[in-house]
Amino acid sequence: MQNVATANEVFITGLKNAHAMENQALSIMKPQLKRIEHYPEVAAQLDLHITETEGQIQRIEEILDRLSESASGLKDAALSASGAMAALSHTMASDEILKNSFANFAFEHFEIAAYTSLLTAGEESGAADLPLLRQNLDEELRMAEWLQDNLPAVTRSYSALSGSGERADV
Ligand code: MG
Ligand code: FE
Repeated sequence: MQNVATANEVFITGLKNAHAMENQALSIMKPQLKRIEHYPEVAAQLDLHITETEGQIQRIEEILDRLSESASGLKDAALSASGAMAALSHTMASDEILKNSFANFAFEHFEIAAYTSLLTAGEESGAADLPLLRQNLDEELRMAEWLQDNLPAVTRSYSALSGSGERADV
């Protein structure tokens, strides 16, 4: 029984961390979306993924509820604050859209790693509800793929806008 309890604790901690991670994701993406002026495809994709992320948070809360656990408010607040800082950190850069594209790509891969680990912890603890987490993982994989596929187009737009003397940073 010792091992079952421990596996369950690992899973619950992972769920709480994932909840905080998703709030951090929102605090990174929302300020970016507000600032974008010249990259409508990026804005549309951020808008879509913000909606997906809100759904991901609901799925995690659903699982925590069924386990009679609630998300950790403190860690959420701290990570959201650091997310807001991350969103601010490229606002002085003339190539803000590119730096944000790289950072978002890295963040999606952090999420992919987190859900891969969380799904394994869930399997170890014999948890139900894993299809909900696989849905979250699939959305992160799609977002990461979109960012990768779209990076050449963003770079070409950035280059063209810069060359035409228009505002290119956002
Ligand atoms: Mg996410
Ligand atoms: Fe994501």
